Amino acid sequence: MDVLKLDKLLIRDCIIILAVILTGFTDMFLDTKSKPESTPSFQSKSESTPSVHAKQDDGTIHFEANLESISVLVNNLHKLPESYSPPDLICADIPFVFQEKTEKRKMRAEAAGAIKDLFIDAKAQGISLLGVSAYRSHATQTALFQSYVSKDGFEEAKTYSALPGTSEHETGLAIDVTGGDGKCPAQDCFGGTKEAIWLEENAADYGFIIRYPIEKKAITGYQYEPWHLRYVGKSIALKIMNKGITLEEYFHAEPVNK
Ligand SMILES: [Zn+2]
Repeated sequence: MDVLKLDKLLIRDCIIILAVILTGFTDMFLDTKSKPESTPSFQSKSESTPSVHAKQDDGTIHFEANLESISVLVNNLHKLPESYSPPDLICADIPFVFQEKTEKRKMRAEAAGAIKDLFIDAKAQGISLLGVSAYRSHATQTALFQSYVSKDGFEEAKTYSALPGTSEHETGLAIDVTGGDGKCPAQDCFGGTKEAIWLEENAADYGFIIRYPIEKKAITGYQYEPWHLRYVGKSIALKIMNKGITLEEYFHAEPVNK
């Protein structure tokens, strides 16, 4: 082989190598460009998730930190450990639909103070409210869920009752309320009442959110529950309610898609 031929071969090889490299770059570039955009409501990363968590074999995600944060996220993917018991539970000084002195009256101190203020101000504006159910211990939630399972079976029960460890009532930061007439306690007929409308408009001023808003089931895992108030503190509550988003969206957590 003469020198000229060898040069030609080398040039040809170089062109081939260059073409391969360029094609690779183009592919990489196109690949980056063609990646699907994430759901708009989960795009912004300005807020971080409330704590570290790890996915378990059963698909649930257990918190490992910040369980006691007032903004703790609890849902079907973010489960409380069995041993969790909230600190500073006290009886909320508000009227309930029942008379007994049970754990259902309890909330964490900050939330109990806030719900009392909310009830007092609501009353002053002609809106009478009653508590239906606040704190529920892990043991109570387990017993409650078991009773539904024996009645309707596991699959049916989990469509309307939270699995133990996934109920916000176990945090001491949630409360179900109803109107002063006591009708529609934790029932759909509470929706659209003047009390429900007042809560929608004012609850955030006291640090509460309507935790399961209308048409957000794909994100929260729950149908609209106008009666279920969750304390998260005033600053977060105002952001969530003013934007019309959920706690999951606020933390950019994965939707529950129940
Ligand atoms: Zn509730």
